[in-house]
Amino acid sequence: IAIAPSQFQQGQISLTKEQQHYLGRVLRLREGDRFIAMDGRGKWWLAQLAAEQAEVLEPLAVATELPVSITLMVALPKGNGFDEVVRCCTELGVACIAPVLSDRTLLNPSPQKLERWRRIAAEAAEQSERSFVPTILEPVAFNSAVTADATTQRYICEARGEYPHLKHLINSVSTEIIVATGPEGGWTEKEIENAIAAGFQPVSLGRRILRAVTAPVVALTLISASCEV
Ligand code: SAM
Repeated sequence: IAIAPSQFQQGQISLTKEQQHYLGRVLRLREGDRFIAMDGRGKWWLAQLAAEQAEVLEPLAVATELPVSITLMVALPKGNGFDEVVRCCTELGVACIAPVLSDRTLLNPSPQKLERWRRIAAEAAEQSERSFVPTILEPVAFNSAVTADATTQRYICEARGEYPHLKHLINSVSTEIIVATGPEGGWTEKEIENAIAAGFQPVSLGRRILRAVTAPVVALTLISASCEV
């Protein structure tokens, strides 16, 4: 389970009421049973349950992270669609998700949404036994987020036009990749132009038009499939 760094003290983990409930009632662990504690920053421990706390037994070495750091810039889809994007992409190994407001974005998220997305990311990271909880950035305008940086492979997914398929372009030597996917109404021409000027390469994800919530999941799947052994 995910434990905040402040809960670790001198070999002990003080458990919150929710964590006690989860371990005792949901996972049905008893005192003396063991579980894995992760701090969301890449460290895991084997821990043993006691009454309202747990004892840290030993640090664990795990390798569940992708060999590349992938940042997804996702134009916020309508409704609660972004919840699913955060959940699936965390499962698939994303390092950072940047929700962006594009010219055709229909949603202006409330501040509570960010908290909710971060909670979903933490839960999904735990479920997928990841070492890191991905960073979910605050929403910003797409045009201010596309800044030039020659050191990173950067792609913008465009549903129309004759662009090379993303699967042919992933360069395995790169350690950082940024991929942008658009909203229901697609990117505007101006947004594509700005992104290209900042060094983004327009790419296709195939011949079918994917929903705004499906496209980031497909992009991440393609990248992880090509860089993971
Ligand atoms: N009506 C929009 C259009 O014609 O561009 C469709 C937008 S699509 C629902 C939402 C976003 O998903 C697009 O802006 C693009 O980033 C991505 N996308 C969907 N299908 C894609 C494909 N086949 N290739 C590349 N990107 C795609």
